[in-house]
Amino acid sequence: MKTNLHPKYNEITVTCSCGNSFKTKSTVDDINVEICSACHPFYTGKQKLVDTAGRVDKFRMRLEAATAKKAATAQKKGRKTGVENVDNAAKLSDIKKELDSELVENSEK
Ligand SMILES: [Zn+2]
Repeated sequence: MKTNLHPKYNEITVTCSCGNSFKTKSTVDDINVEICSACHPFYTGKQKLVDTAGRVDKFRMRLEAATAKKAATAQKKGRKTGVENVDNAAKLSDIKKELDSELVENSEK
């Protein structure tokens, strides 16, 4: 058998991003993991988002931008209709005034 063929099988520490760590044996050095059996939803039974690439944050940002845009457009539309309503109200009051003055004139006659 060749010498120095077999890699060293050391006891290492696996550290999770949740803070959990445990010891195991491996040929590599200490391992850092993002999820372990102490925090994985399958074992905890709780819902948890496993978002490593920031995709959820990206989606939230896009959603916020979209809602803001929508709100701005709705506000614009609302303002437009509001102006129209004000115009109509002004016209209506003008017409009422005219009618009232005509009525007064007619009653004076
Ligand atoms: Zn963990």
